[in-house]
Amino acid sequence: MTRDPLTVVIAAFNEAESLPLLQPRIAAALDALPGVDGRVLYVDDGSSDATWAVLQRLAAADPRVALLRLSRNFGKEAALTAGLDQVEQGAALILDADGQDPPELIGQFVAKWHEGFDDVHGTRMEREGEGWLKRSTAHAFYRVIGWLSKTPIPADTGDFRLLSPRALAGLRQLRERHRFMKGLFGWVGFNRVAIPYHREPRVAGGSKFNFWRLWNLALEGITSFSTAPLRLATYTGLLTALVAFVFGVWVVLKALLWGDPVAGYPTMMAVILFLGGVQLIALGLIGEYLGRLYEESKQRPLYLVDAWQPAAGVSSAQD
Ligand code: UDP
Ligand code: MG
Repeated sequence: MTRDPLTVVIAAFNEAESLPLLQPRIAAALDALPGVDGRVLYVDDGSSDATWAVLQRLAAADPRVALLRLSRNFGKEAALTAGLDQVEQGAALILDADGQDPPELIGQFVAKWHEGFDDVHGTRMEREGEGWLKRSTAHAFYRVIGWLSKTPIPADTGDFRLLSPRALAGLRQLRERHRFMKGLFGWVGFNRVAIPYHREPRVAGGSKFNFWRLWNLALEGITSFSTAPLRLATYTGLLTALVAFVFGVWVVLKALLWGDPVAGYPTMMAVILFLGGVQLIALGLIGEYLGRLYEESKQRPLYLVDAWQPAAGVSSAQD
């Protein structure tokens, strides 16, 4: 029986405490799948703690484990891209390093893959260990982006997913610098299915995403997958101009018909300040898109590799 290759890809940034707890769970999950040739690929996203040393220990203990270290911290999206780029054969399954995406579900993902699905994604039913503020803002974000974006982006779905070889090949062709992975997965398409799961709290350490990073990720998502904000600026401009016109006519008529003295300063200040604000917002919006265009036009690589250590026990595609 041929065994389908499956690589579990994990981006890790300062996860020295969680990785030793996670690896046995992944290994056990892979052992339980006789039809699958399981491999594990850890991407050290420029960690400043003992992550790399811990990973080397894990790789020495398990011949299925391959390691990749980036030259610095490039962020989760780039680290995942680096990992997925290294997958030569078969499907890839993306997992968080902190145990929030339970490896015990790998079997369910693989079953769906074998049924013929290309993009099997975990949809969170609950998010334990995360405050209501994070949960409610995340909830709102998925609704807004779902409404704005023409590309389907499933709600409450993170990066916990399995990509079939052809979905993976499709994703690899998207080389944009501003990588909003959830949207890129959606863009690829093919047969998709959701697996509901309970999102557990982290096994160790703290979240690497503070509110500022999440806010920027949200902006990234919206500007990468929608130009609706630009259109909003156009409509705001049109509406303001219309209101200004009606108001102007009314001021003139009032002066002509009733000889009302024109009340100057307060109205003028209000209008000038309001219009100034609207114009600055519109300019800022254009700037957001222009800045992204600028960064895209530089065509820099998405990441640089510091070290690559193939799995000891897996023959590569070339030999
Ligand atoms: N991560 C990464 N690079 C970063 C930040 C995070 O590779 O710059 C990894 C991190 O190690 C973890 C995953 O991305 O495996 C999710 O991070 P985290 O758990 O901190 O995010 P949260 O679950 O709180 O949204
Ligand atoms: Mg987490």
